[in-house]
Amino acid sequence: MSTIDKNLTSFIDIAADSDFSIHNLPYGIFSEAADGKRRAGVAIGEQVLDLSVLETEGLLSLDGGSYFDQPTLNAFIDSGRNNWTKTRTTIQALLSNASETLRDNTELQKKALFKQADVTMHLPVQVPGFTDFYSSKEHATNVGTMFRDPNNALLPNWTEMPVGYNGRASTVIVSGTDVIRPSGQLKPNADDRPIFSPCKRLDFELETAFVVGKGNNIGQPIAVDEAADHIFGMVLLNDWSARDIQKWEYVPLGPFNAKTFASEVSPWIVTMDALAPFKTSCPTQEPKPLAYLNEKAADSSFDITLSVELLPENANEATVVCETNFKYMYWSMAQQLTHHTITGCKVEVGDMMGSGTISGPTPDSYGSMLEIAWNATKPVTLKGGEIRSFIEDGDTVIMKGYSEKDGIRVGFGEVRGKVLPALTFDFDK
Ligand code: CA
Repeated sequence: MSTIDKNLTSFIDIAADSDFSIHNLPYGIFSEAADGKRRAGVAIGEQVLDLSVLETEGLLSLDGGSYFDQPTLNAFIDSGRNNWTKTRTTIQALLSNASETLRDNTELQKKALFKQADVTMHLPVQVPGFTDFYSSKEHATNVGTMFRDPNNALLPNWTEMPVGYNGRASTVIVSGTDVIRPSGQLKPNADDRPIFSPCKRLDFELETAFVVGKGNNIGQPIAVDEAADHIFGMVLLNDWSARDIQKWEYVPLGPFNAKTFASEVSPWIVTMDALAPFKTSCPTQEPKPLAYLNEKAADSSFDITLSVELLPENANEATVVCETNFKYMYWSMAQQLTHHTITGCKVEVGDMMGSGTISGPTPDSYGSMLEIAWNATKPVTLKGGEIRSFIEDGDTVIMKGYSEKDGIRVGFGEVRGKVLPALTFDFDK
């Protein structure tokens, strides 16, 4: 297990509870209002370090060209693991107290450091493919209990494979993007035909997603013990879901329109190098997975504290509705990636793979309103008195996540999205 160098400190002021310590250094794409030019940066405290400036100054010295004066991180990620680690080590040294290069050069600081509050964040990668898994046993059990049979809540395939579906990369959006309430076919009464209506059961799903850092050739699966080498980093994901659209459409082929209007991600990709000190084991897998899913590594999960807050339009204060942890996930990211490619499916740099809703064992750790309010039978009272079973127009959903150990914090920041009213349609021609 990777250890943390506690003596490593930055010359930049960083609050003790900042997600963006010198031990983190997540990558993102940002622009300034002045020119709108997108380029790569890393978050440090409340600031962004402009990597395109460091590159121009010859301080990053990577082989193979310009990686950071780019509107996405794909080229950098595609340049390979050696470059990821080398860049991280170089930036960490430049930001440390021990190096004078940036510390004592106020001109360079002026060119390369920006307040996060003053810049706009964009999608960090061009996303060729989006996949969503269903890997929390607690979540799958809760959903199965509500909608099928409490005694057989998990379908027989669930403990044998990381179940998932191929989603839409085109509707992966960055934190801060408003979400229009979707409309579609609902079927409120079993005996009647469906109606066309705005979704009445709009929900969030608390998830993380990993970003593929190295693809494979079609026909060539990624072995489970090599899968970690194919993962660049992680983001928070709010997999917005229209429960009532989902309920009518999902038989027999699974989610379609209910999941493809907004998959909202946090703007900073936290690298697996930064998360390495927070490795932990997955829950015991029983039955033992088939050989192709059987990992040698005993610690292929991560201890990441996660939360969800709801903020109604006119509320003064957000209410925490869920606190959970990534470590409850039954299937590891390596197992997900291996299962995804086992038939020969090709994955590509920048692909995002959602974990599935991350629910813990107790009701205050459930990762969706469907579970928290138990299919609208246990509505939640928010601070200020508003009551919710699902998400209303004007509500903002905020998800946060961080790892912490020995006073060292590596966090994701947040993914934040506000719901706007449904469009009005006039189909009577
Ligand atoms: Ca999901």
